[in-house]
Amino acid sequence: MKHQLLLVLIFLGATLNALNVIGQNPILIIPKPRMAEQSRGVFTLNPKTSLFAPDGLLKKAKQLKGYFEPALGYDLSISSKRANKDLIEFKLDNTLKRLGEEGYQLKITPEKVSLTAFTEKGIFWGIQTIRQLLPNQINRSATVKGVAWEIPCVSIEDNPRFKWRGLMLDCSRTFIPKEQVKKYLEAMSYFKMNVLHMHLTDDQGWRLEIKKYPELTSICSKFHESFREPKENEGFYSQDDIRELVEFAAQRNIEIVPEIEMPGHTTEVFAAFPQLSCTGDTLKIHPWTKGAGVHNEVFCAGNEKTFEFLENVLKEVAELFPSAYIHIGGDEAPKMYWKACPKCQARIKDNGLKDENELQSWFVKRIEKYVNSKGKKLIGWDEIMDGGLSSSATVMYWRAWDKSVVQKIPLIENDIVMTPTSHCYFDYTYEKISTERVYSYEPIPAGMSGDKTQKILGVQANFWSHLDRTAPRMDQQLFPRIIALAEVAWTDPGKRDWIDFKSRLEPKLTYLDITGINYFGKK
Ligand SMILES: [Zn+2]
Repeated sequence: MKHQLLLVLIFLGATLNALNVIGQNPILIIPKPRMAEQSRGVFTLNPKTSLFAPDGLLKKAKQLKGYFEPALGYDLSISSKRANKDLIEFKLDNTLKRLGEEGYQLKITPEKVSLTAFTEKGIFWGIQTIRQLLPNQINRSATVKGVAWEIPCVSIEDNPRFKWRGLMLDCSRTFIPKEQVKKYLEAMSYFKMNVLHMHLTDDQGWRLEIKKYPELTSICSKFHESFREPKENEGFYSQDDIRELVEFAAQRNIEIVPEIEMPGHTTEVFAAFPQLSCTGDTLKIHPWTKGAGVHNEVFCAGNEKTFEFLENVLKEVAELFPSAYIHIGGDEAPKMYWKACPKCQARIKDNGLKDENELQSWFVKRIEKYVNSKGKKLIGWDEIMDGGLSSSATVMYWRAWDKSVVQKIPLIENDIVMTPTSHCYFDYTYEKISTERVYSYEPIPAGMSGDKTQKILGVQANFWSHLDRTAPRMDQQLFPRIIALAEVAWTDPGKRDWIDFKSRLEPKLTYLDITGINYFGKK
């Protein structure tokens, strides 16, 4: 009898709880927060709404104004006095250190929106949550009439599961214009992603201005004329462009990690600097579909000029990008020319190396020393483990099909970013990697537990631009899969549910429509 009474009480409680929020907009945030409790009522933005923030957060208050004022059609004032109602308030609070530097607390009542965090970063993610709680129309760039700008009352406490929530854009195979990169940065921040890895160099073109070597852009950023490639597929970012992108990203909590490929995927360099390869041949830069996907020509590891060149390049890269990391590629470097090259063989002999794999390892370690001397950490594709790797380098794991690599993952001591071809390769079709498949991904590998899991920094989608080369095609390869990955990277696995995610994704597609982003399945 007692038991039955308890059940009735539980049922009543659940019903009352549901009634609390009946008729109100549900909480539809992506990524799903750690904790969200909705309560009755709404806060409504109106011309009397004012912002109150300490000096250190005025920039963030202005950012919120920038997001909302175009659609509202009126100004939200920043007030030096804390109003009793119609108030949006930002606060920093040291006791929220327990949520980490990206965590935040958001309390919304009919009178005020109160956003508190340990750092400015947390405040920024809280602002994204507020954006997502408002009607999608708030993202329009012109005044929208007739919408009630209501935010459901809710109490949220939130922080990310992983600190690396990334997207790699291959800007080499096809040049991706600055404005398109900004569009992706903006959408990434809306879904709380925080790393943009720019693959700036590869066989199809060098895309970064280096003052010391103007030929890298005057020659190496262009396809050979014999291929009659459309002009828009080539080009480069000037150093001013990069500074602009870095600043644009930083305002949105996003770090841009630059990648300069070596020792392979570097034949574009040999279009102007043939003396840096083992063969000395001048190569023609071709679109990916019109030549080898992986070339045998790589940087000569026995030639001191190679290191002089790379260090001069990396010096400028380190100065341009404030990121803690420099990515040096390291993937798919065939060893046939190293085997035949007297200089490379002399290097192997002089350093007591066993073979060409150890030569690659020697190469990477030498470059790592230089990268470290510039105050940066080295990261590379998982091939940098071949032949031995220093424990301070970070590995970007991609070879999901190779059992010998997969088995190594739980054993290695290095920090790792998970980007396996099985779930994270967004140049693959949706038939191969569906949004649901991305959503099902668990970045902590089987066999890893306890403190070891701390080695997994996070997860990243990789988009290679060899086949999908126009903006609408690229958009479609990225969206909506990237939104699923954003939740994988942020939300605890126990909170993830595909059906629930789909119900939240549907309204977010309207955000993509409004911001001009194409996506797979768009009607
Ligand atoms: Zn060589």
